[in-house]
Amino acid sequence: MRTTALKNLSRLCIHSITTKPWAIETAAQKFSAAGVSGITVWRDALIGRNIQQTGQLLRNEGLDIVSLCRGGFFPGLDSAKRLVAIDDNKKAIEEAEALGTNLIVLVCGADPGLSLEDSRKQIRDGIAAIIPAAKAAGVRLAIEPLHPMYADTRSAINTLKQANDMCDELNSPWVGVAIDVYHLWWDPSLEFEIKRCGANQNIFAFHICDWNVPTTDMLLDRGLMGEGCIPIKKIRSWVESAGFIGFNEVEIFSNKFWQADQNQFLHNIIEAYQIKS
Ligand code: ZN
Repeated sequence: MRTTALKNLSRLCIHSITTKPWAIETAAQKFSAAGVSGITVWRDALIGRNIQQTGQLLRNEGLDIVSLCRGGFFPGLDSAKRLVAIDDNKKAIEEAEALGTNLIVLVCGADPGLSLEDSRKQIRDGIAAIIPAAKAAGVRLAIEPLHPMYADTRSAINTLKQANDMCDELNSPWVGVAIDVYHLWWDPSLEFEIKRCGANQNIFAFHICDWNVPTTDMLLDRGLMGEGCIPIKKIRSWVESAGFIGFNEVEIFSNKFWQADQNQFLHNIIEAYQIKS
């Protein structure tokens, strides 16, 4: 009988929000003990903490701090709101620098009072406004296209083509894309667009989870890899063929899993990563 070697965990990263019931300190210990190599930190996990010390604690556990989630939310009907967003993104850049990561994921935002085209213009202007601060801090910005079901308030960038077009327009080595299978798996132009951002060395992050069938909540019912209908291995092969050698980041928002035993959930994540992704 032939046995297949399990994937090692050297490229496995887990988002802090995936195991939301755990404080960041607990998550760091548990991830490290389980052999996970990286962590992406959500800003809410840093509330009330010394960010520099938290970064050190994560590194002491042997974890790579892959990115900070999240910046963005640039569009707004009134200019005051847009300025607040730019300030908040500059703050996120400072937090990333203090934490010791060189990447921020941008959930770009949308305002239902604006057309999607106008929201995208404001996103472009918002990112352009923070590029100098990002460059000064050595922090890259990853535009994450979101599934069109979030085009009302979360992001007017809904396809990898739109993200690639915006990267072309901004034309900065500090701006690239985050490819999340949950948001993009349905797109018939996905392979082509992955090749396109690969050619520009613009793939900054790769997020994985699965699409539950049926999905019972638009936001908080993501599945574990292998539970749903996303061809994760196929998309990963495209991303790798395009030259991406970074982490596979497990990002799961799930009321179901957050209510479960997190130790068992972590075990299941690792198994699913090795076999189903
Ligand atoms: Zn994501």
